[in-house]
Amino acid sequence: MASAHLSDTVSRLRSHYDAGRTKPIPWRLAQLKGLDRMLKEAGDELAAALGEDLGKAAPESFLAEIDFVAAEVRSMRKHLRSWLRPKRVHTPPHLQPAKSYLLREPLGLVLVIGPFNYPVQLTLTPLAGALACGNAVVVKPSESSPATSAALARLLGAYLDPEAVAVVEGGAEATSALLGERMDHIFFTGSAKVGRIVAKAAAEHLTPVTLELGGKSPAIVEPGVDLAAAARRIAWAKFMNAGQTCLAPDYVIALDGVGPELERHLAEAVREMYGHAPAESEDYGRIVDERSFDRLAAFLDEGRLVCGGGHNREARYIAPTVLADVDAKDAVMAEEVFGPVLPILSLETLDEAIAHVNAGEKPLALYAFTNADTTKRKLLTRTSSGAVGFNVPTAHIDVPGLPFGGVGASGLGAYHGKWSIETFSHAKAVLEKPLAPDTMQVVYPPFTSVKEKIMRRLR
Ligand code: NAD
Repeated sequence: MASAHLSDTVSRLRSHYDAGRTKPIPWRLAQLKGLDRMLKEAGDELAAALGEDLGKAAPESFLAEIDFVAAEVRSMRKHLRSWLRPKRVHTPPHLQPAKSYLLREPLGLVLVIGPFNYPVQLTLTPLAGALACGNAVVVKPSESSPATSAALARLLGAYLDPEAVAVVEGGAEATSALLGERMDHIFFTGSAKVGRIVAKAAAEHLTPVTLELGGKSPAIVEPGVDLAAAARRIAWAKFMNAGQTCLAPDYVIALDGVGPELERHLAEAVREMYGHAPAESEDYGRIVDERSFDRLAAFLDEGRLVCGGGHNREARYIAPTVLADVDAKDAVMAEEVFGPVLPILSLETLDEAIAHVNAGEKPLALYAFTNADTTKRKLLTRTSSGAVGFNVPTAHIDVPGLPFGGVGASGLGAYHGKWSIETFSHAKAVLEKPLAPDTMQVVYPPFTSVKEKIMRRLR
């Protein structure tokens, strides 16, 4: 989109917002209903686009994207009125008589920038939250999943109020142009590198940002747990979407000699899920582009190959791969893997694992396979991460009452359900006090000792 056209689009949305069209609750509910209908009627079209972009199997697309968003939208429609109800808070005695309350007001124009890996879930879930709060929204899907981006542009235009929602397609250039416009909130999901660019641009207009980033989420495995079951859960979470999942276990920390047995179970779990030739499995995805393929292929020479390793650049295929005996200094341990390569780092004690995790940036999630409450307590109190999953990775994203977001380098802010209301609206503080009786007399000068006594007693 040419930048003049883009500015026109932004002004059109802003005028619609300024005219108050997006504020009434029925309008918001109608948008959510439109999203719901779109997901029902065009679910197959979206699944086909996801298949084209990422080789995603349709059941996985429905599970992790289309039905996921539909559940979020349904829950929002159900709870919206109660979530938006003004909330009374206590007014202290020295201000009585009066009432104090919080009003949830929309922010205005929201920009949602999406990544390539779950391009439906990660654009539509924030969009639902922003619309529920009565905002106008510009959605910028990732250019790296072009079929899904095109489908979203077409469908959102047809199912939602086109005066309040616009899709701008394109890459860094389109995003930069959008970042030059004044927005009232920017919701970004993607890499820390681009997150920094977004935060800097937002600072120019003092626009608040939500940053949903990534990082190296560890899966710590202790001896004494059912290693076959742990391996299945790790393999499922890691190799879904060919490892291109922000919440996937990035690497395993095998404690106290569990490494060799865990390796065998991981290889077995991969065979159970994707067969002896994952390249032929309809359930296994592809790497998004050649640049990512090249970055990931370079990891395949590190450590000792437990399983996988096969790759084909033309097909953007990298087999589900497990690497053992990696060193903390290897490249695969230095940067976020974000692909189907699972390194295993062997350490002796939980304290060493905690020290390793704390030496890096705060991860989006920390997973631990353990039966011990003391281990859980130690991890909860001595590490920091966006979320924690005990004995199950990634599934906390499916708990509607839990916020989804990172901390430190893995993100800023959170969303989902009620948490989206906090992100996409402003809690306006309101105090209402009658003019009579004028109980404020006591704070007006000239001060007297009697006034002072009353003031101090009432505080
Ligand atoms: P990315 O940062 O490359 O791209 C994200 C968005 O930013 C895209 O829409 C892209 O067009 C835009 N963009 C790219 N370069 C830009 C630039 N120079 N200026 C302005 N905009 C630019 O991320 P990605 O490759 O699509 O996704 C992978 C990353 O996202 C991983 O780090 C992953 O962990 C993270 N991620 C986080 C979450 C989460 O919810 N926390 C979810 C998915 C992915």
